[in-house]
Amino acid sequence: MSGECGVCAIHRSATARADFAWESTRWVLRHHRNPAPLNGWFLLDSKRHVGSAADFDAVEEREFAGVLARSMRAIREVLGVPRVYVVMFGEGAHHVHAHLIPRDPTIEGTAAWAVADWYRAVQVGGRLPADPAQIGQSIARVAALMQGAVIS
Ligand SMILES: [Zn+2]
Repeated sequence: MSGECGVCAIHRSATARADFAWESTRWVLRHHRNPAPLNGWFLLDSKRHVGSAADFDAVEEREFAGVLARSMRAIREVLGVPRVYVVMFGEGAHHVHAHLIPRDPTIEGTAAWAVADWYRAVQVGGRLPADPAQIGQSIARVAALMQGAVIS
């Protein structure tokens, strides 16, 4: 094991940056990497190594709610869904990374906790991942809505 942080590697990778919809000094809004469980499944990452919102500094604490709300509105509008789920486990990396999951009522098997089974099925190949071409369009449209989101 190299010890390199996976999220820092994503933030530095030119390839991974294609999945970015928005970034600021402290935050990155990016689409879930391929294979993505759903079109519109984004992650909001802290750039700093902070494992939990409980450990935010004062600036992060002030900014996070605004960035989260703005991201959720953009995803809701672009995907045309009534709501966006937010899941923060904090197990995979020492960065706050909120999974922002569009809840599309026309996609059976993605309501509430069932979306976790859906996620695992995609990761093990039991279900097809979201179409990268559609994801590219969603990233571009979310990016357009996030433009000008100057947080501080
Ligand atoms: Zn890191």
